[in-house]
Amino acid sequence: METKYIFVTGGVVSSLGKGVATASIGLLLKSYGLKVTLQKIDPYINVDPGTMNPYQHGEVYVTKDGAECDLDLGHYERFLNNSLTRDNNITTGQIYYSVITKERRGEYLGKTVQVVPHITDEIKSRVMKLAKANHVDVVITEIGGTVGDIEGQPFLEAARQMRLDQGRNNTMYIHLTLVPYIKAAREFKTKPTQHSVRELRAIGIQPDVLVCRSDSWLTDDERKKISLFCNVPTEAVIDAVDVECIYEIPLVFHKQRLDNLILSNLGIDVGEPDLEEWGLFVDRAKSPSKSVEIAVCGKYVELRDSYKSIMESLYHAAVANDAKLKIKWIDTDRMEDEIQLGNTLAYADGILIPGGFGMRGVEGKIKIVKYARENKKPFLGICLGLQCMIIEYARNVCGMKGANSTEFDDSTAYPVIDLLPEQKKIKNLGGTMRLGDWPCQLEPKTLARKIYGKDLVQERHRHRYEVNPRYIKSLNDKGLVFSGRSPNRKLMEIAEINGHPFYVGTQFHPEFTSRPLAPNPIFYHFISASVKKI
Ligand code: GLN
Repeated sequence: METKYIFVTGGVVSSLGKGVATASIGLLLKSYGLKVTLQKIDPYINVDPGTMNPYQHGEVYVTKDGAECDLDLGHYERFLNNSLTRDNNITTGQIYYSVITKERRGEYLGKTVQVVPHITDEIKSRVMKLAKANHVDVVITEIGGTVGDIEGQPFLEAARQMRLDQGRNNTMYIHLTLVPYIKAAREFKTKPTQHSVRELRAIGIQPDVLVCRSDSWLTDDERKKISLFCNVPTEAVIDAVDVECIYEIPLVFHKQRLDNLILSNLGIDVGEPDLEEWGLFVDRAKSPSKSVEIAVCGKYVELRDSYKSIMESLYHAAVANDAKLKIKWIDTDRMEDEIQLGNTLAYADGILIPGGFGMRGVEGKIKIVKYARENKKPFLGICLGLQCMIIEYARNVCGMKGANSTEFDDSTAYPVIDLLPEQKKIKNLGGTMRLGDWPCQLEPKTLARKIYGKDLVQERHRHRYEVNPRYIKSLNDKGLVFSGRSPNRKLMEIAEINGHPFYVGTQFHPEFTSRPLAPNPIFYHFISASVKKI
């Protein structure tokens, strides 16, 4: 079979859940036994989102090969249950960087270098390279932003050319749009959809499928109207109705036969899909018999997308524990008063401190760690969360007054968290942290070893600072156990204490490897320790 290329575009407004829709289509096609990969195009000029503030961009997702990526890659990995790589995320910055580098090397042989064909060729070559490298049947490429954005034009142009190059049978265009319900008129409005399709057609793309986001199901009449005005068959007007669990979206699409439509459009002949396990997960997710409330304490809590993978990992673990998850968001910037903090946290079943950068909110986090340790509340500290755990232990158990990370206080008497010598030499900020998969050796007879059930694991990293090896012995003598270390034993990966229901910190980010059908073990055991039986 020739490789098939599907392009997913978005119209009207952003944040329609294009990433989840793309991931859902990927899962559906995979359920037929096809080999599928997903790719995200981000039309911004940054080479990657690694240097962006979470408020700009939401979470930075990290792949196993250490690429700092768009958070949609997280959806892709969770739905496909595959590990993706840096080639699965393209940005305008990367495309121009590589075209300009080629030009400087003289590779364009005296030609004027232009958007068409040089930039568009570079875009197409990245899409095809991904297909070739992974020997896939189908590549689904999601183009970020909305149709009509200046930044997105070269990518849409490249997508248009792909049909010319690869043929009608090997390409497909799916457009995600909004069909708002206007209360005053008591009807759905299809005009924004008509406009965004017109915009697409102006650049030469006639969508084959429209996926319409709506609050409730569209009627047949509305479907017919959209079909007529947008020149798409009625069966290709798919309703992406709001659901309580995002993992239900593939099933919502399947019910409307979107998978059959794609397969017949692309001339793919396959048997029946296997969606049984996925369906069971969704059923379990919708009818839990217990409940659990987790306080997530960070400084980017106003933008929930900053903690996307954490939220999803907690959710996977809650479903596996048959519990309904409630997240209580705590802004650590406003958590300096210990009494207020105790009152707020008393109702939580477990406390989680996620990763972060910079000193805002750190003292609040350290107080939260102390509260969790002393009150024996299940606690999980991730990356900066682990570093706060070490600082708190040094200050309050080991008597190291003013202990800190040199990220926040470079003249501290006890730099318990510090840069490694090799990090001190680095000048550029982009892509230079300890990134991606690193091995972690688990110590026998520790909680971490029990949780993972094996001696060696790989987890993903994104940080510059580490536990300072000079203080390991003092911390250890006072009861802090380093239960996971790098195989050369120099880098501390996991810390825990005895005599507490669950008090674990990880230097890595376990949230990047959690999947609906296979929750990350650290999250699973954290939720098990927190769960309320009702
Ligand atoms: N700021 C800390 C570091 O760079 C922690 C990073 C994180 O939590 N991802 O080491």
